[in-house]
Amino acid sequence: MLISLKLKDLRGENVILSKKELLDAIAAEIIVCRKCELWKTRKNAVAGEGSPYSQIIFIGEAPGYLEDLKGKPFVGAAGKFLDTLLSEASLSRENIFIGNVLKCKPPKNREPLPNEIETCTPYLDKQIQVIQPKFIVTLGNHSTAYIFSKVALQFYGITRVHGKFQEASFLGVQVTIFPTFHPAAALYSGRYKELLLQDFKLLKHRLIDQRFNM
Ligand code: SF4
Repeated sequence: MLISLKLKDLRGENVILSKKELLDAIAAEIIVCRKCELWKTRKNAVAGEGSPYSQIIFIGEAPGYLEDLKGKPFVGAAGKFLDTLLSEASLSRENIFIGNVLKCKPPKNREPLPNEIETCTPYLDKQIQVIQPKFIVTLGNHSTAYIFSKVALQFYGITRVHGKFQEASFLGVQVTIFPTFHPAAALYSGRYKELLLQDFKLLKHRLIDQRFNM
């Protein structure tokens, strides 16, 4: 599948790249990026992974310890629970794309800083523009706040907005946004685990209602 995103080749002629080639080009830029201070403490930048042709993108906050070590998103305990949630919604890693707001791990797993979010999110924006998903599922406060800010939705904290579908245009891409908690929240609270499972059931029913075709 090709999209009409044209780049100039060395002779100045237009070339059309596939979604996979475009995502690979973005990932190549990310793994050597030094645009903010986080490059100094990372082991690996985590560009994100999944199907370039996915109709659904999941967005987390930032890589954690294992993600930084392996250069892959959601490979720790929170990632295992995300797999459970995906299976609740009849989804799998092969037919979705998973990325983060920040591509490099903040030291001591601290929260992302506003200037880091501002510097890094053009990568996420480009990934969304290339994939052109029908659904964006935001995991936790930071990714929800960022995506809401881009589509001029008021954000009142994940506890108030989770589990509610929002229709919006994200940089020209018409999407349904579905905010929920970060899967890591379920690791220390049975209440959040329950809420996440409920939200993913809602997601599953919405996908069925829309005859969502993976
Ligand atoms: S967090 Fe983003 S902007 Fe900062 S160095 Fe990593 S990839 Fe670059």
